[in-house]
Parts: sequence; C-alpha cells; structure tokens
Amino acid sequence: MTNQTLLIKNIDFLLTMDGHHREIQNGGLFIRNGFIEQVGFSSDLPQTADEIFDFSGHVVLPGFINTHHHFYQTLTRAVPAAQNSNLFNWLKTLYPIWARMNPDDIRISTQTALAELALSGCTTASDHLYLFPNGSLLDDEINAASEVGLRLHASRGSMSLGESNGGLPPDSVVDSEEHILNDSQRLIQRYHDGTPGSMVQIVLAPCSPFSVTGELMRESAKMAREYHVQLHTHLAETQDEEVFCLQKFGYRPVGYMQSVDWVGNDVWFAHSVHINTEEIKVFANEGCGVAHCPSSNMRLGSGIAPIMDYLTAGVKVGLGVDGSASNDSSHLMAEARQAMLLARLRAGLLGASLSGDDSPSLFSARNAIEVATRGGASVLGRNDIGSLEVGKCADFIAIDLNRLDFAGALHDPIAALLFCHPQKVDWNFVHGKAVVKNGILANLDLDLLIRTHNLAAKRLLQS
Ligand SMILES: [Zn+2]
Repeated sequence: MTNQTLLIKNIDFLLTMDGHHREIQNGGLFIRNGFIEQVGFSSDLPQTADEIFDFSGHVVLPGFINTHHHFYQTLTRAVPAAQNSNLFNWLKTLYPIWARMNPDDIRISTQTALAELALSGCTTASDHLYLFPNGSLLDDEINAASEVGLRLHASRGSMSLGESNGGLPPDSVVDSEEHILNDSQRLIQRYHDGTPGSMVQIVLAPCSPFSVTGELMRESAKMAREYHVQLHTHLAETQDEEVFCLQKFGYRPVGYMQSVDWVGNDVWFAHSVHINTEEIKVFANEGCGVAHCPSSNMRLGSGIAPIMDYLTAGVKVGLGVDGSASNDSSHLMAEARQAMLLARLRAGLLGASLSGDDSPSLFSARNAIEVATRGGASVLGRNDIGSLEVGKCADFIAIDLNRLDFAGALHDPIAALLFCHPQKVDWNFVHGKAVVKNGILANLDLDLLIRTHNLAAKRLLQS
C-alpha cells in the first residue's frame, strides 16, 4: 500500500466521540493510508501531508452509521395506495410492485439511496435486500455501491413463507430455502471481509417472522456462526406481528427468536418497538443490538421504541432510516433529529416531569449523535469505526457553520446540527477519501442518476 497522508486542520469544533467524548476547538486529524494516526489540537499535528484541508468555520464529527435500510424502496416513495396504511397493508400493496424490479432497478436504487445517505452524513450503510425478482442478485447492489465509496454491510435477505403456507407475502416473491442458503454461502465466500477497514461485509437476514420459517432462521444462524458473519431481521415492529407470532409459534417475537437460536452478540434487530422489560433484559444479557427507525415507526403508526430503556439497560442501539418507502427519505442526519425528538415525546407521554429541578434529563443531541455513530458501530459488530480516535478508520463529515439554518445557534454547533433543521454535509470522507466534496458527490453524476431513477420508478408503477 502506498504511504498516503492527509491533514485536516483548523477545525472550529471537532467532536471525536471517543471514550471521553472529547470535543476539541481548533482541532485536527492526521491520517495515514485511511486510518487516523493523530487527533488533537491543530497546532500539535504535523503541518505537512500529501493532501491538506483547512476546515476553519466547520464542525467535524465521525461519519454516521445506518443500521437498517432497504435501498430498493427509493423507487416506491409516496406511492398513493400505500401512503395511509399500517405495515401489513402497506406491504401487501407494495409486494406486487417490487416483484417487477430487475437488476438495473437494484443498481439504480442502490446508488440513489447511497447518494442521499452520503450527502446526509453517512459513511457506513447497512442494507437489507430480501426480494430478488427477475434475475436480481445481491451482487447488483454490492457492485453499484462500490462506485459510490461508502462502506456497505449488505444483508442477504430472504422470504420463504408465502401466502399459501400462512405467510404474508404472495407466493410469487418467495424463494426455496435451499436456494437461499446456497446463495448466502456463495455471497459470504465471494465478498465478506471481516478485517479492520473492511469496505464490504455480508449479513444473513431472513426478512421477518411472518415471511420465513423457523427452519430457515435456524439454518441461517448456523451458517452465520460458521463463517463469523452477523445476523439481522425485523422484530417486534408492530402489534400485528406480535399476534402473528403468538398464534403461529406460541411465542412473543423475542421468545420466538430465542427458540430458533437468534440471540447473541452477532444479532441485531430492526425496530423492536413492542418489547417488555424482561425482553429488554434478554437483549442486554445476550448482546443483541437494535436498529432504531423513528421515522418509519411514526410513518406506519407502529409505535415508539423504548430506546432510553434500552440504553439504560446496556442494550446496543444504532440508528436506521429504514426503507425509503416508509420514511420516505434516506436523510440520516434528519433521522438522528427524529430519534432525539421521539425519545422526548415518549418521556413526556410516560409522564416524566419536564419541569422542576429534579426533572430527568431529556434525550440530548449528543445522545442521538452517539447512537448514530458509536452505537451503530457496536450494532454492526465493528470496533474500527464510529469515533475519531488513533487507529480507527478516517470516516468523518464536515459541515460549514456559516449558513442561515444555524444563525443564532453557534453557542453550541454540535447541538445545532440536530436542534436546527438538519443539513446536507459539505464534506464526507470514507477511509480518508472524499466521497462528498463541497456538497457535491465525488463519484456520481447526480442529475443523470435522478433522471434514470425517476424513469425506473415510473415504469414500476405503470406496468
Ligand atoms: Zn425494514
């Protein structure tokens, strides 16, 4: 590897999110070959490097980590027939539209979602692709993502329990379990890289309790543990799902996961809204992580996840924009704001006194940023990202503070990022390489992508 150095100097406010949550005024980063070699005051760092950026007037913080998404759903945002339904009816409306997708649609939607994520501060994105219609493969997503430059945790999703066997999805979009497992093994062997600085990891991700069998859950867990890859699925998203699990399996969702060997440090669940105190203890004791998706939970009327309770109990919590058909956005900075506001609303609804000297502290902007950075890294099982510390990957974002949206809020520029209207980033670096430069995506022709994407979305809705 070449010996490439990068100096970021004169940062107004540097939020490291290290173990001491250090915030440094007039800070800097010195980077070698994509890894951070020094963090500190700008004046204490080497003054020369192969590349130098002066970020005076900017705030710099670790890149955000998205722990749950379905990139392909950017093609079906705001579909009229699915605007006002809860999860099960929303899914039933959209499954037949998604069944028309082809490999090109997967490629286009991957780049659209990643473009939005990159511009809104994301440096590592997890995606959950669980439909493979008309010859589509997870490879289409992985190849398209490699052109954008973000780290990708590609979850090989699956659905095997069709309507005729008591599942929710139509039989036309489910697959045989033998094929799912063979393809999962192929993908791990071909793409998974578990080393520090890894750009692609494979995750095994049967879709949800109502779309796969217990047998596929067990077999997926066995394979994931053999290859040391993570496991991911939707869990306890709605009350409908809870009723389904009790009727079909005789367990609440978490009990069902325990029965199929799906608890552990290598498992993270999307949503986990309808969870009781005992189940929170199970997550904490077993090391299961949660991908909190506040916009989607509000959009589909699913409920409010108890993230303060999770964090108090020691459960790993990350942030996810969820699929773009239930958000209908991939703006990760905006999602952090939603997490902050929704946690406050829940505290208020539960009767926490919001005034007086003994009132509990509300979920802060820094709490939300911690979930979106360090929290996400722990949920994805990574210790090389999520904070700006010596030895970690140089994944960071920079935002110019001199803009209308922050006027009057510069007493605390970190909090301003979420208290004020969430912005797009000006710079986004992944492994020391800029994927957003001065607010422009470095590796994509955005105008062309938007045109192509809109044509693909129109075709899906019209066919
Ligand atoms: Zn989802």
